[in-house]
Amino acid sequence: MSSLSPSTRLVTSAFRIARALAAVGVLLSSGRLAAAQAPVDSALASYINSIRAIDDHAHPMLPVAAGARPDTDYDALPLDGIPPFDLPSRLRPTDPVWRAAQRALYQISPELSGPGYHTSLRTAVANAKRMYGARFPRWALDQARIDVMMANRITMGPGLAPPRFRWIAFDDALMLPLDVRGEAALTPDDRSLYPREATLLRRYLQALNVRTLPASLDEYIRTVVNPTLARQRAGGAVGIKFEAAYLRPLDFDDPDAFAARRVYAKYVRGGVPSHAEYKALEDYLFRAITREAGRQHLVVQIHTLETFGGFYRSAGSAPHLLEPAFNDSTLRGTKFIVVHGGWPLFGETQGLLTKPNVYTDISMMDVMLSPTVLAGVLRQWLGEWPEKVLFGTDAFDGGVEQGWEQVAWVGSSTARRALAIALTGMMRDGEISRSRAEALARMVLRDNAAALYGLR
Ligand SMILES: [Zn+2]
Repeated sequence: MSSLSPSTRLVTSAFRIARALAAVGVLLSSGRLAAAQAPVDSALASYINSIRAIDDHAHPMLPVAAGARPDTDYDALPLDGIPPFDLPSRLRPTDPVWRAAQRALYQISPELSGPGYHTSLRTAVANAKRMYGARFPRWALDQARIDVMMANRITMGPGLAPPRFRWIAFDDALMLPLDVRGEAALTPDDRSLYPREATLLRRYLQALNVRTLPASLDEYIRTVVNPTLARQRAGGAVGIKFEAAYLRPLDFDDPDAFAARRVYAKYVRGGVPSHAEYKALEDYLFRAITREAGRQHLVVQIHTLETFGGFYRSAGSAPHLLEPAFNDSTLRGTKFIVVHGGWPLFGETQGLLTKPNVYTDISMMDVMLSPTVLAGVLRQWLGEWPEKVLFGTDAFDGGVEQGWEQVAWVGSSTARRALAIALTGMMRDGEISRSRAEALARMVLRDNAAALYGLR
């Protein structure tokens, strides 16, 4: 240090003085700063909390009476049959966010613990279900300030009717008309999941009165795929959902029609296709199904997320794998939603939003992530594609102590807090005005979904 020239020494001490002054300045103003710079602008937060939202993706349960047959149509691929797997921290019932939901919905004191807590919660949930009966799902939406919920279910039923609930049907099963035993043998998760798709396809065939699969792939598309979508549309569906990432990587390559027709014809009367043969058929059918969905004005949702399941293919759910399909010019009439934002690869999702027919939602992200982390994602997306980002919760039933109504409340509260943080930051940095911040909040929570689904 002794070799510093006088001028360097001068600069260095000037720097030290400036740094010291800055430190004093921060100390002097820290009290005022703490008051003025709360992470959210309170007026903006109140405005955001007043918006009645449209939930792009959820799994509400039928309000079945006690003793009635349990509701098993809440998902095409329920995960209770796969080997036990770890949940991200915020989804575990021990996270304090669930106590916040239980206090808001059922007035369960956060002071309670042990058996007293569990008994109080179960009693309160049972009482609410008895008291509200068939109105329980609508009550749940009101608690979460959700106006309309897109219900991802195999079938709808009493208590889940429009206008508050809209149907999103499942159609992975249509990609799997051949024997799935080869695919089901790939992982322990697949062993449980593939047979469920085979069962669902049998239900779809039964609904169409198709006893035997047609001999050719073109006939299968004409007499099974297209009529199933039409039946779903006629039954009130506004969209269809692919859970393909639970079954296979999302690399729906440019299809080889010749190969797909050959595989179908070879195995339709029996035999187990090789993995490569089945993939060629699935790649072809994915495009045929989504093209027809677009023709029938059905939005297409695709699960993209790092999890769930101990043998889940995280790399196989990377949003960029969908780019060849999204770049298929024959699919530009179909609107796609990258569901769960592709988390944690939300930058890849952002890259796909440049396509005119691709959207994303924050479902499950607003249950798994803290408001602060989600705010960072929203701020990044909203700076570029504000009309492509939708609110969603992925409300699902985690048993009586973590019911779908609690998940909806957690998702809605977290999303609103995250939006408030992101939009406050953009406002304070001079990127947007207050009225633009309010408009962006309306777009994410409601208007973007209303436009996409054509809801009035
Ligand atoms: Zn879901």
